[in-house]
Amino acid sequence: FAIEYWPLELYKLAQAPKPGELQGKVALVTGGAGGIGRAIIDTLASAGACVVSFDLDADGAAEAVAAYGDRGLSVAGDVTSEEAVAAAFRAAVEAFGGVDIVVSNAGIASSSSIEETTLAEWNRNHAILSTGYFLVSREAFKVLKAQDTGGSVVFIASKNSLVAGKNAAAYSSAKAAELHLARCLAEEGGAQGIRVNTVNPDAVLQGSKIWGSSWREERAAAYNLDPEQLDEHYRQRNTLKVSIYPGDIAEAVLHFASERRSGKSTGNILNVDGGVPAAYSR
Ligand code: NAD
Repeated sequence: FAIEYWPLELYKLAQAPKPGELQGKVALVTGGAGGIGRAIIDTLASAGACVVSFDLDADGAAEAVAAYGDRGLSVAGDVTSEEAVAAAFRAAVEAFGGVDIVVSNAGIASSSSIEETTLAEWNRNHAILSTGYFLVSREAFKVLKAQDTGGSVVFIASKNSLVAGKNAAAYSSAKAAELHLARCLAEEGGAQGIRVNTVNPDAVLQGSKIWGSSWREERAAAYNLDPEQLDEHYRQRNTLKVSIYPGDIAEAVLHFASERRSGKSTGNILNVDGGVPAAYSR
């Protein structure tokens, strides 16, 4: 290379994926049976980590780690239950001796105008998203602080944590609570090297169980579209005109999970949305 390109080329070499980048690390992923959760598990396991899949769906959680033999563990449980969350961390520590990476990802989708939002729907969103992320983080912090070897906590929030979701006040406000929880925890964990960062996806239609259900019809109706026009709708609203896939979210999680890639980042947000320029959903 010409001498002026050396720093850039060296930088590229340093960023190239290294086999076994997460060797010896243990990652616990909530919502491990879902589309994005499974991609996260596959990506972290491919980088060498032991993976714990936690989900309400016992069979799906087990399937997600089936390929990883004794590097995989599945635990069935609900993120809104203090006991179930504590049990998942106990199982992880018992199986692998500790936990280094915690990905809060279990979630749902919901949408309705504010007048039509029932108290039950509001509470369900806040219980699974905001409170669920709190309970998982609290347990993560107990384990990580006791180990005193740092660690990485990653939240899968949403574009809606930053901008208003269309007819989705309950979901979006719960996602905003997740984002601010991450910032508070980044501050609390800093002194012990515990990093807490957030990944904000825009719509991930392929693979996600959310989008395999009546949700696709509902969203299409909200935009006056046919369901098959939705992929194009989401592509067109971002600057890069791209679709977002579970693997894209998993790569962002790998970035925050890896000390080498993001060891000096905490309280950060990585938007994986193709660049959505508007302050409001379109
Ligand atoms: P998904 O439905 O495929 O997976 C979600 C998983 O969470 C499911 O396996 C489900 O069983 C599990 N889950 C739900 N409630 C739970 C609970 N109380 N306890 C334990 N597990 C529970 O959905 P996904 O698209 O993979 O979503 C993952 C995360 O990404 C969610 O937090 C979601 O809000 C967020 N997100 C998704 C999109 C998208 O368009 N798919 C966009 C932005 C953000």
